Amino acid sequence: MSRGIFLFYSCLLILGGCIYKDEPMPKIMHDYGLSSSVSKELVKPAKTLPVIPKDWWPSSKFERKWIAIVIHHSGTKNGSLAIFDKWHKEGNHWEGVGYDFVIGNGTNTNNGEVEVTFRWNDQKVGAHCGGTYRNWANKEAIGICLVGNFNKTSPTGRQLASLVKLIRFLQSRYGISESRIYGHNTTPGARATDCPGKKFSMAKLKSTL
Ligand SMILES: [Zn+2]
Repeated sequence: MSRGIFLFYSCLLILGGCIYKDEPMPKIMHDYGLSSSVSKELVKPAKTLPVIPKDWWPSSKFERKWIAIVIHHSGTKNGSLAIFDKWHKEGNHWEGVGYDFVIGNGTNTNNGEVEVTFRWNDQKVGAHCGGTYRNWANKEAIGICLVGNFNKTSPTGRQLASLVKLIRFLQSRYGISESRIYGHNTTPGARATDCPGKKFSMAKLKSTL
């Protein structure tokens, strides 16, 4: 064997030995395994957050410091924002509908549809819970009306689902605690009323919040 050929084979052995001696492959394979599993997790779609309708945010720049939520039923079989607005204007001579939100039952609007009134848009004092001390509930509580007479029928599942979503949004935006969510009849200082109806369970609502 010539000196040149000997050197060539020696180099091959040394190089081969280096590769074998360092054993880099298993480590690299392991790293690849880890990084590929991480990247798979990263591309997983994020948990879907509920989409909040744009009109739930007040359209005016001014926002009241809401501290409570009062839930009502309409006490009627059917209804909608437009219908209550007409009644409250013509019957009560108010500026318009007394509530901030109206949740339909599938009669005059879709079942579970949330309608936003001018009171909420313009952050006006409500007209849904009169007679309280210095009218606190109208000034500081958000009035939500569910269409229906809940002395006779229960709210629909879709109405309750929309109500829960709306309340969660309002709670997170204004830091309203669960103890400050009232039915009209349990609102401190409110006149005696059966609103929001015997078949509306506040306990059941609160258990789902
Ligand atoms: Zn009421």
